[in-house]
Amino acid sequence: MGSSQSALNFGAGPAKLPREVLEEVQREFLSYQDSGMSLIEMSHRSKEYTKINNDSQSIIRELLNVPSNYKIIMMQGGGCGAFAAIAMNLLNRTGTADYAVTGTWSAKAAKEAAKYGEVNLVFPKANKPGSIPDQSTWKLNPNASYVYYCDNETVDGVEFPYIPETNGVPLVSDMSSSIMTKKLDISKFGVIFAGAQKNIGPSGVVVVIIREDLLGNPMKCCPSVFDFTHIAKENSVHNTPSTFSVYVMEKVLQWIKKNGGLEEMQNQALQKSSLLYNTMVQSQGFYSCPIDENCRSRMNVPFRVGFNGGDEKLEELFLVEAEKLKMYQLKGHRSVGGIRASLYNAVSLADVQLLVKFMNEFQKQHGSK
Ligand SMILES: *Cc1c(COP(=O)(O)O)cnc(C)c1O
Repeated sequence: MGSSQSALNFGAGPAKLPREVLEEVQREFLSYQDSGMSLIEMSHRSKEYTKINNDSQSIIRELLNVPSNYKIIMMQGGGCGAFAAIAMNLLNRTGTADYAVTGTWSAKAAKEAAKYGEVNLVFPKANKPGSIPDQSTWKLNPNASYVYYCDNETVDGVEFPYIPETNGVPLVSDMSSSIMTKKLDISKFGVIFAGAQKNIGPSGVVVVIIREDLLGNPMKCCPSVFDFTHIAKENSVHNTPSTFSVYVMEKVLQWIKKNGGLEEMQNQALQKSSLLYNTMVQSQGFYSCPIDENCRSRMNVPFRVGFNGGDEKLEELFLVEAEKLKMYQLKGHRSVGGIRASLYNAVSLADVQLLVKFMNEFQKQHGSK
């Protein structure tokens, strides 16, 4: 990479952030608001950080229209920390929880939760990868503490086109790679959590939006740093937060607001992903996507290069040629291979148009049957 010029970054996470935000952070880095100190040198109880902490929560509440009976908290431990935290905070209710496993991250979450109680998979694991079984076939347990699903499977490229119906059982959603990319009716959820590093900031902070009545019943074993009730009570400064991460996240959220909010992010996401999926259709099989059409992700688009389901040699060449054009982080996750283009909020339509132009040229050169 090595150059100071902006790259075309299609990485899955940590991922591209708005250039404007990075420049603002750079300008402020040595002296935050003319204090002569960097924000990262200031106490998390300073008036400066207190404002950032409170403003972050307000802008999340505003952008997502979060009702007043929900708390917004921020913690560390990444998405994977949240897998355990969800179980330790909610599983106490009945000791059993329902998990919809649609890919890599929900599978990990279910495995983690099983350390703390009973986990029921609402459809068999053998389910065809790259699909979501019809809700009428889900085996939901009315006694479950919660129903868990991953809104967008970042590795696999599977996104829920709807919010699951749970008949009153609290719904928990991992939105690490889809938060702030579409409008949501928050009242349908018990808990939403999201690691920031896919769409809204650097790594180091996880946003948790939780309905108040679900607080207050953590397991005894739950560490305080994962205890939603405790963190909420302490306004997310129970201990030293990743102040830098929260600070950058708040700027990214302001950028989203300035650029048309979730409605515009949603429009853009649809345009960008449709462009890519349509390119595959037009390639007549040179590019192919293994995911069912009704649940193709607008955020992470996995595809294969080469007729008859992909050719690894051709994919290697594709990555080499892409890098020559400064298109980076297009390699598929190590568990699935192929190519993956991630199209988070900071990736522009123009970026995707350049990718598509490259794909068409690559096919012209290497795609004769
Ligand atoms: C990246 C990701 C995670 C894991 O996040 P870490 O911060 O690396 O633990 C979990 N869920 C989803 C949907 C993700 O995209």
